Amino acid sequence: MTMTEEEVKDLLVKTNAIMNGHFLLTSGLHSPHYVEKFNVLQHPKYTQQLCEAMAEKFKDANIETVVGPMTGGILLAHETGKALGTRAIFTERVDGKMTFRRGFHLHPGERCLIVEDIVTTGGSIKEVIDVVKANGGIPVAVSMLVDRSGGKVNFGDVPCTALLHLNVETYKPEDCPLCKQGIPMTKRGSTGKVNK
Ligand SMILES: [Zn+2]
Repeated sequence: MTMTEEEVKDLLVKTNAIMNGHFLLTSGLHSPHYVEKFNVLQHPKYTQQLCEAMAEKFKDANIETVVGPMTGGILLAHETGKALGTRAIFTERVDGKMTFRRGFHLHPGERCLIVEDIVTTGGSIKEVIDVVKANGGIPVAVSMLVDRSGGKVNFGDVPCTALLHLNVETYKPEDCPLCKQGIPMTKRGSTGKVNK
């Protein structure tokens, strides 16, 4: 089933995956928004719903395998693969280098859909594309849950799509309008890392 960007955003806000307030990011920058993907991904029914929407766009693309990077990408690959009736595998890092383990392999020309949850720079996705190519597969497309690059991510000859495009403002502390208004920093617990 398809979802509009508004529906996706509403779901992420409802589950607190997108939080509004005044946040200190690990980069030292301040932001009025904070994204914790596992606040939505911890609900299997929502993950399923989002992945069905991701899969919908590729139901006629003859995808054979869905590939995602560890950790969030494993969940997305699994649910998207389930919706498409394909295999679902994942990449992980060994000594910092993205690779397949666990006996995963591709047959020559295997058509792969690459999925990821929140994409900021696209660096990990580029590595997954390289792993798929190096293993003889064809990276047909990249499907993102949230593109928060402000439309800047680009994967060369591999087209990409996202359920939601976010442009998250960040400020240097000295330029932060929230600080200037005297708004206290929002406490957000210790779950997960900050997506800068
Ligand atoms: Zn601030």
